[in-house]
Amino acid sequence: MTTTTPFTSLRDWLRHLAATDRLTTLKPGVALKHELAAIAKRLDGRQAALFPEPDGHAIPVVSGFMSKRAWIAEAMGVPEPQLLQRFSAAADHPLPWRELAYGEAPVQQLVHHFSDGQADIRTLLPIPTHSEHDDGAYITAGLVIARNPKTGVQNVSINRIQIHDRDRMGILMLPRHLHNFFGAAEAQGQALEIAIVIGVDPLTALASQAIAPIDCDELEIAGALQGRPLPVVKCISNEVRVPADAEIVIEGRILPGLREPEGPFGEFPKYYSAREDREVIVIDVMTQRRAPIFHTIIPAEMEHLLLGAIPREATLLSHLKRSFPGVTDVHLSVGGVARYHLHVQMVKRREGEPKNVILGAFGGHYDIKQVIVVDEDVNVHDPAEVEWAVATRFQADRDLVVISGAQGSALDPSTTTQFPGNKPPLEMQGLSAKMGLDATKPLSSAGHVFTRVRIPGASELDLDSVIAASGHAALIGTTLSETDH
Ligand code: MN
Repeated sequence: MTTTTPFTSLRDWLRHLAATDRLTTLKPGVALKHELAAIAKRLDGRQAALFPEPDGHAIPVVSGFMSKRAWIAEAMGVPEPQLLQRFSAAADHPLPWRELAYGEAPVQQLVHHFSDGQADIRTLLPIPTHSEHDDGAYITAGLVIARNPKTGVQNVSINRIQIHDRDRMGILMLPRHLHNFFGAAEAQGQALEIAIVIGVDPLTALASQAIAPIDCDELEIAGALQGRPLPVVKCISNEVRVPADAEIVIEGRILPGLREPEGPFGEFPKYYSAREDREVIVIDVMTQRRAPIFHTIIPAEMEHLLLGAIPREATLLSHLKRSFPGVTDVHLSVGGVARYHLHVQMVKRREGEPKNVILGAFGGHYDIKQVIVVDEDVNVHDPAEVEWAVATRFQADRDLVVISGAQGSALDPSTTTQFPGNKPPLEMQGLSAKMGLDATKPLSSAGHVFTRVRIPGASELDLDSVIAASGHAALIGTTLSETDH
């Protein structure tokens, strides 16, 4: 497999999946409450799902079109082993976007104004209710774009958004860039203008999850991944620039000095996050293509996990390589909800170096809770190999690093157990211990102690060339009957 042209359009990508038997069209009329998510969950990681007329709605819903690592590499146009390298290169060399004039952007073909009190987001869009205890319908694949009130540079993130009313929605902002922008706006008594973009190509969705500096517009990383400046257009009601080829854009403002209950909602760790007072969005305008497609991400399933994992892995790999040139690969395990558990592969040069790598990894992203460092002969993408390394190269009293009371993920329920009613005060949310395991073998050891068992020729073997052709099936009968005597 060689490098090919990246996919720059959602519709081209969906057509490509359909042509290769990776997109299933469901029966029309699937229910938006639970049924749609149930079907998409069962197909996740195997086939993308297209739902025509969900609950009779004219707009179809799609899900799961990025639910395999190999598919994402394919959308990028690189072989899978180059996935992280390619993403890092794009993150390191962003490409400024190209602005289209009004009237040129497909996503503004139709405009709905909310100021007249008529438009209703609950009927304009087919918004699913996903998990059993979710409080209601949620937008789960909305790219939230806002401008830094201090510099004007944009940020892109995916935030869960609950539908509250005709023109009001709740939003969860973790303590990252969007939260920082809103804090700056709110301190001035201002609302933060935002756009919520639904239905983008896989590479733009992936770029939105880059762990980039605060004044890096992730749409420029999308352009670099696509190999062309991303076409954008200015919103109708505010200054935010949005991908011109998207399916749907909701324009609005996060209001200052206002919090309303949001949640519960089933999140990526496969637990619910609690109902709490959170920020509120008021909708000003919605724009759309004439016949748009609505994208929903099934929480905690592979599309959700991979979207977060790949950009984080890419960032963590280049972050670690800067200080530790011996680091060769990283993997955020699926069992670690693709956020909390990091496997690092390295060529160790000095004893103790893996412990420095562990500390470096904790500094790379606050979500990282457990780091396992292995040697270059261990495949970090294979959980059984990593466990084997821990089983045979790790001693807890010498090779374990534990750090108490560091910042971790507020969505990890085990961070709440020391607080009454499992309710840590805001400034204590996500307070977490960190664990690092040095599962590398010593640089020197006696004899065959750490020589891995290998059968000469086993990995190079071309099995097809040594298996008897089907015409020789009679041999089995002859062989078995002879051994019966
Ligand atoms: Mn950012």
